[in-house]
Amino acid sequence: MNIILLGAPGAGKGTQAEVICKALNIPTISTGNMLRAAVKAGTEYGLKAKAAMDAGDLVSDDIVIGILKDRIAEPDAHNGFILDGFPRTLPQAEVLEEMLAKKGIKLDAVIEIQVPDEIIMERILGRYSCMTCGAGYHDKFQKPKVYGVCDVCGGTDFYRRVDDNRATVQNRLVNYRALTYPTIPYFEKKGLLRCVDGTGTIEATSKKIDDLLAVA
Ligand code: AMP
Repeated sequence: MNIILLGAPGAGKGTQAEVICKALNIPTISTGNMLRAAVKAGTEYGLKAKAAMDAGDLVSDDIVIGILKDRIAEPDAHNGFILDGFPRTLPQAEVLEEMLAKKGIKLDAVIEIQVPDEIIMERILGRYSCMTCGAGYHDKFQKPKVYGVCDVCGGTDFYRRVDDNRATVQNRLVNYRALTYPTIPYFEKKGLLRCVDGTGTIEATSKKIDDLLAVA
C-alpha cells in the first residue's frame, strides 16, 4: 500500500507510521528524519535545511523533493511506503503525484490525523527520545518503567528535539495551517482523504487507521 499521513506536528504521524510499517512490512519515509540525519551528517542539504528547521519553518520544496525522489527510488519502497511529513505544501503534493504517475504507482489513502492545538502543545513539549535506540517517551504520558532508563535498550541518555520548544511549535502550527492545510482539499477532491480523530491513545488511533485501511 502507498499511504500518506497528514496532520499537524505532534499529531502522531511518526508513531502511527511505525505501527503501520510493522503491520504491512513497508518502509516509513519521513522527510523530517531524513533532514535531521542530513543535518547531523553535515551534508550540503543538511547545512541548507538547518536554519529553517530550528526556526520551525519549512525547508525549501526543491531540497525536500530532491530527498524524497531519491528515497522513493530505493528498492525497499517498491512494494509500498508510508509518507510521514511529506507533502507539506501544494507544490510538493503536485510533484509527488507526477513522480508517482511516471512510475505507475497509485496512492491508496491519505490519512489526516486530527488533534487540536492545545493537545499538540502538551504532547510536543513533553516528548523526548533515547539517545541510543531512538525509543520515544513523554514526561506525562509515556514514562520509562524505571526512571532515567530506556525500556527498550537500557540506555540512560535521552534528548529532546531542538525544534520542540513553545515558540517553534507555535510557528510550526502556523506554517501547517498556511502551507500544508491546502493539501487536504487537494487530496479530498481526488477521493483519497480519510480523517481520523488522533486525540485518544496510540492504540485507539491505530485501530481507527487499521479500519480505514481495510477498506481503502
Ligand atoms: P517533522 O519531523 O516532520 O516534524 O519535520 C521537522 C522539520 O523538518 C519541519 O519543521 C521542517 O522544517 C522540515 N521538514 C520536514 N518535512 C518537510 C517537508 N515535506 N517540507 C518542508 N520542510 C520539511
